[in-house]
Amino acid sequence: MTPSTDLNIPLFERAKARIPGGVNSPVRAFRAVGGTPRFVQRAHGAYFWDANGQRFIDYIGSWGPMILGHGHPAVLDAVQKAAVDGFSFGAPTEREVELAEEIADLLPSIDMVRLVSSGTEAGMSAIRLARGATGRSRIIKFEGCYHGHADALLVKAGSGLATFGNPTSAGVPPEVVRHTLVLEYNNLAQLDEAFALHGADIAGLIIEPIAGNMNFVRASQPFIDRCRELCTRHGALFIADEVMTGFRVGLQCAQGLLNVKPDITVLGKVIGGGMPLAAFGGRRDVMEQLAPLGPVYQAGTLSGNPVATACGLATLREIRKPGFFTALAARTRALVDGLHSAAREAGVPFAADSEGGMFGFFLLDALPQNYPAVMQSNGAAFNTLFHGLLERGVYIAPALYEAGFVSAAHSEDDIGATVQAAREAFRLIGR
Ligand SMILES: *Cc1c(COP(=O)(O)O)cnc(C)c1O
Repeated sequence: MTPSTDLNIPLFERAKARIPGGVNSPVRAFRAVGGTPRFVQRAHGAYFWDANGQRFIDYIGSWGPMILGHGHPAVLDAVQKAAVDGFSFGAPTEREVELAEEIADLLPSIDMVRLVSSGTEAGMSAIRLARGATGRSRIIKFEGCYHGHADALLVKAGSGLATFGNPTSAGVPPEVVRHTLVLEYNNLAQLDEAFALHGADIAGLIIEPIAGNMNFVRASQPFIDRCRELCTRHGALFIADEVMTGFRVGLQCAQGLLNVKPDITVLGKVIGGGMPLAAFGGRRDVMEQLAPLGPVYQAGTLSGNPVATACGLATLREIRKPGFFTALAARTRALVDGLHSAAREAGVPFAADSEGGMFGFFLLDALPQNYPAVMQSNGAAFNTLFHGLLERGVYIAPALYEAGFVSAAHSEDDIGATVQAAREAFRLIGR
């Protein structure tokens, strides 16, 4: 493909004239890796096709939701049937109840659930609920975790532990993040100190139990246990942000793997199966603080949308089938192992991890445990690998700090072709 025949280029030019940066979410713009984003024309199973009709094996899956692959027949059928019956009513429907029941049935920590339209909305509402339920203002978050783009969560660590965070985006007044304390992931000593200093004022602690927004970093068992214990002891709410890990790493989500019971869980991505749908849910006494029962206000015109709930329900019903996650996890592990041996052959440092249908890899000798260690990754080498794979028809996240996703539609042959492409791409990095 030469620049003069690449049909993605004129599309990107048109996009840039009318949409800031040409994209509706920044990471799609390829700013980190350079080059022109691929404009997707259609997708099926494990693949999508760009404006040139070139096929890519898709390891983003809409950044997580497409756990069954694109256009799964049962999901497509459910969505088509639901669309015929109406797109949106602004009045309750049975499917919302079914989805709430399904989520509560799968996650023992959830007694009640409220459906919303995006993970950002769910995370923002969970924070408001924690503050409303406790009557406290302060929240704890961890560096490298992402909880959507609500003001109070766009924050980086301040100069010291006793100081609160600084905004990471223009347009967020410092006063708005004044109550957000940012700590290092997996750092027990900092966690203890923060609760010792501020425990009585902390409304909630929010964490990705497996962090998927700094590539792939697991919370250690002692760390997650201590988070739970300190929240209980100090009367703060433990909020698990499982927007990415929920029904992606396993049927009981990351909280099941880590055997921890959050007070509030934030969900998104897979529960919508690719439609705009997210949720937050948890303990009955906490959820009953929400309007119309309680004083914490939260609402949404399209919340529990009938087409989105049909898509989400059909997706959850497929992933509940016996053996689903065992097969998905094995396929994902095969990919990670194949990438590992390809890197080793080329003499490129490599460390990787996976759980269920989610994986991450680093061009480092060992898996990082926190954000500063993730930042040691070699950006230039990653960009060479990214473009090497892209040219060979393999689409991974166009940024170093993102997790990857395998779907049930990825075949053994797809994994094999990916590993072969990686063998060639790793050689470009050289020794
Ligand atoms: C994607 C994500 C969000 C934000 O969800 P959106 O639907 O993009 O608003 C929040 N938290 C985590 C952990 C995520 O991965």
